[in-house]
Amino acid sequence: MSDALRMSELYAPTLKEDPVDAEVVSHRLLLRAGMMRRAAAGIYTFLPLGWRSVRKVEQIVREEMDAIGSQEMLMPIVQPAELWQQSGRWDVYGPELARLKDRQGREFCLGPTHEEIITATVRDELRSYRELPVSLYQINMKFRDEIRPRFGLLRGREFIMKDAYSFHADQDSLKEHYDAMAGAYGRICDRLGLEWRPVEADSGQIGGKVTTEFMALAESGEAALVYCSCGWAANVEAAEAVAAYTPIAVSSQPLTRVDTPDVKTIAELAAFLGVDPAHTVKTMAARSETGTLVFLALPGNRELNELKASHIVPGLELLEEDDFAAHGIHRGFLGPVGAPEGTLIVADRTLKAELAWTVGANEVDAHLTGAMPQRDFAVDVWADLIVAEPGDACPSCGGALSAARGIEVSQVFQLGTKYSEAMGATFMDEAGAEHPFVMGCYGVGITRSLAAVIEQHHDEHGIVWPMSIAPLEVAVLPLQVGDDTVSPVAEEIARALAAADIETIIDDRDERAGVKFADADLIGWPVQVVVGKRGVAEGVVEVKTRASGLRESIAIADAPGAVAKLVQEARDALR
Ligand code: ATP
Ligand code: MG
Repeated sequence: MSDALRMSELYAPTLKEDPVDAEVVSHRLLLRAGMMRRAAAGIYTFLPLGWRSVRKVEQIVREEMDAIGSQEMLMPIVQPAELWQQSGRWDVYGPELARLKDRQGREFCLGPTHEEIITATVRDELRSYRELPVSLYQINMKFRDEIRPRFGLLRGREFIMKDAYSFHADQDSLKEHYDAMAGAYGRICDRLGLEWRPVEADSGQIGGKVTTEFMALAESGEAALVYCSCGWAANVEAAEAVAAYTPIAVSSQPLTRVDTPDVKTIAELAAFLGVDPAHTVKTMAARSETGTLVFLALPGNRELNELKASHIVPGLELLEEDDFAAHGIHRGFLGPVGAPEGTLIVADRTLKAELAWTVGANEVDAHLTGAMPQRDFAVDVWADLIVAEPGDACPSCGGALSAARGIEVSQVFQLGTKYSEAMGATFMDEAGAEHPFVMGCYGVGITRSLAAVIEQHHDEHGIVWPMSIAPLEVAVLPLQVGDDTVSPVAEEIARALAAADIETIIDDRDERAGVKFADADLIGWPVQVVVGKRGVAEGVVEVKTRASGLRESIAIADAPGAVAKLVQEARDALR
């Protein structure tokens, strides 16, 4: 049991005005409610209230990790370059990795993630299949020199992550722990009061193939999602696109050259020829890692998914304006028919469906109509190249997809042997043979999750905390602190609540009622007990629930019990 906190002693400088440069609501409210302050772009100081909520998020995550048998530990933030050289990531990570040298000139980095350290830690000492599986986690600061730190805690440079790593003898064991992690991640989102979805995702630089992202749904989210009523959902970056497509009703047409003076965009082309953009081909020029010219051909009404394209053609880079002349090709008039000798033609699989495409003629001011795959042009690679869109068919059930936006709060990966092989981390099986560990890694953005909660839980007055991570659970607001009928009642209610293990603060400042109400709603105390002179005279206080806005007049003697019940119900709902 601890005493009630006192607002007069609390360091929580609230702001009346919206801070400039805070674009999203969580950023604005965390600053205005006196929870954090900016130290530099993407780098924040947590003040007492903000830190209380951060620690509650951490505690929920910790409980769920412990419950599935992962063990807490702590790794260093500063990591030797040598380990990153062993994994091969020192050269590929790019400028997001903050590198530094010590006084002897030895190279280090600030950990953006900890696969290297953990793998190096276990590699010489975790030796036998009998000791596997092992799952370890930490809650620690990460540093990523993000190109565009913004949106406060949603995309910081320094941020807190829970990262876990697991080591297994085989894929089945990994799969089992991966599923347990995914289950824990879902429970974490539930306990934070988030509306969320698990989505199929791209595994990006970290490696591995099987991965799920946990998305908090929010308009302010940077991730575009597509989802289906059947439960399937994916990050648009990774979503398989099954374009809803209506071929035009012809069997075949002759290939015909048409003059299209100055017609460069798909919109101009469709208007000029009176064709549906969906029946034109958009051809984009790119270069492979080895310098090969690549044409990416897709339906004119769709967008290229560069990430998918780069999985098909390693090191793919779209050509810049200036590169076109060097290849003897003409921007706006590219097409798969008559492409320069040696061009790799990669076409979206939708192009198979149509028998009469309108394509660029690879000469200035000309297009071809009636172009037919196979008859008129060869395709080296058929692939899924386009960005999935709402209305496309669900890859799982065929239903129509919808679009949403989300904040990636966490992600689970099946890494396989990428790091263990590169770094020589092996164990001995029953027969004495050495094998690389099969690994998984799992991350929860602690500070990003906190911000995501605010993105979903706020109103025009401030934050509406879920009980599970509110900085405190109840605020008692004596409206006339100097009044000797009001103060004793408020102090006694606060004392009784604190004695019942309810986290309580009393706003004992000598401020006007309006200031106290505004701060209480801005900070977002979940339950507020208003003690006013008139009510006390009638023997009552007012109990307000922040989330519902409901106010109830309750007899003074019953107040601690009634408030404790409200708090308990709200706690239980998020357990
Ligand atoms: P993003 O795609 O948003 O850059 P990521 O996929 O690179 O994130 P992971 O490597 O999967 O991130 O890290 C695990 C978790 O750490 C993420 O799910 C997210 O919650 C959090 N996280 C990652 N980058 C940031 C950041 N810049 N600021 C705050 N949290 C972050
Ligand atoms: Mg991620």
